Amino acid sequence: MISFEPPFEQCKSKVVKRKVDYIIVGQGIAGSWLAYEMINRGKEILVINRETEDTSSKKAAGLYNPITGKKMIKTWLADDIFLSLESHYQELEKLLKKKFLYQIPIYRPFNTVGERNEWSVKIDEGYSNFVQELKSKSIGYQHIQDELGGIMLKKSGYVDLKTLLSAFREYLIDKGVYTSGMFDYKALEFVSDKVRYKEIEAEKAIFCEGVNQDNPFFKDLPFKPVRGEVIDIECGLPEDYIINRGVFMIPKGGYHTIGSTYDHKNLTFEPQPEGISNLKRRLSKLFVGPYRIKNKRAGIRPATFDRKPFIGLHQEKKTLGIFNGFGTKGVSLTPFFAANFVDFLEKKTKIETEADVQRVY
Ligand SMILES: Cc1cc2nc3c(=O)[nH]c(=O)nc-3n(C[C@H](O)[C@H](O)[C@H](O)COP(=O)(O)OP(=O)(O)OC[C@H]3O[C@@H](n4cnc5c(N)ncnc54)[C@H](O)[C@@H]3O)c2cc1C
Repeated sequence: MISFEPPFEQCKSKVVKRKVDYIIVGQGIAGSWLAYEMINRGKEILVINRETEDTSSKKAAGLYNPITGKKMIKTWLADDIFLSLESHYQELEKLLKKKFLYQIPIYRPFNTVGERNEWSVKIDEGYSNFVQELKSKSIGYQHIQDELGGIMLKKSGYVDLKTLLSAFREYLIDKGVYTSGMFDYKALEFVSDKVRYKEIEAEKAIFCEGVNQDNPFFKDLPFKPVRGEVIDIECGLPEDYIINRGVFMIPKGGYHTIGSTYDHKNLTFEPQPEGISNLKRRLSKLFVGPYRIKNKRAGIRPATFDRKPFIGLHQEKKTLGIFNGFGTKGVSLTPFFAANFVDFLEKKTKIETEADVQRVY
């Protein structure tokens, strides 16, 4: 049981100059999808975002992949999320008139003959939506270690998050619903069943802050942030597939993004030598050709103790909400959960149980 002692302050009553339904704090991929969903439903919002390069979304590789892990099983909620995921991003591309969705099959070379045999059965057992084909021989890419063939996945690819975020920020600015700057928790007041932030009154304030230990209202939630590195390399490989075994190699037009590492201890945005060596070592088991590293970066993922997001309202203050904790899967989870959360806020439907923040109270 977690106890919360937030600094709930008495109303200091200022003149209200603007009324909105929701204040959204943070415009990473989580805040962006939540804002989009609310605008689509005719809600008045105001997004307050601290602009910095050190955010999870700006460091991410952007991959979405329905089949993950060493055991290669369907990821959490894959059937609910992945069949419509690309159409959500396409809708946003159309609105923002920018390209950021790249639909690319993932080629996963087999480790063993046993794995290949397992897949020939698995294809017919609920995986057909996500499997394009089984390759029983190498695809013949020079320097790729895939003597046993591999599985070719569909409903996969990557999102260029930097392009999306910057285009969405412009869109919010044009609508007059974006403010740059750090949200000042001390300026938040609770006025009957609303919140006041400076001269703005809102039904609710929703925090989409990614990794942030400073929020006094949600700081005790059991987040478990994970640092990660990625590198961009020039390696001369064709760009038809994302190749994934041990590491992923995502073709991004003249270079490949390689990732990623996982470290719970050293939570810094600086790439670490051990992280880079770890990536190189894992890459060398998949790709044995020469390459040049053109860029290294590190970020911190807003992960949680049970690897599920924190979505919902504050235990005591029902005018505060959280939409965070998307961990390693911000790209795939946020469109689905933005709709799920707005349904809850507006229609009083249920938040997906495993993602509901109430599970930790
Ligand atoms: C190296 C690496 C690789 C990754 N690769 C992938 C991948 O391939 N696929 C994938 O799906 N996910 C990946 N992720 C994870 C993904 O980045 C996250 O799931 C996602 O970006 C989280 O988004 P967010 O909006 O919650 O947080 P953020 O992107 O961190 O956004 C939070 C925003 O809130 C702002 N903010 C915070 N506090 C305040 C405040 N008090 N006031 C105002 N603004 C505030 C921040 O400045 C920021 O703009 C990766 C992460 C890392 C680090």
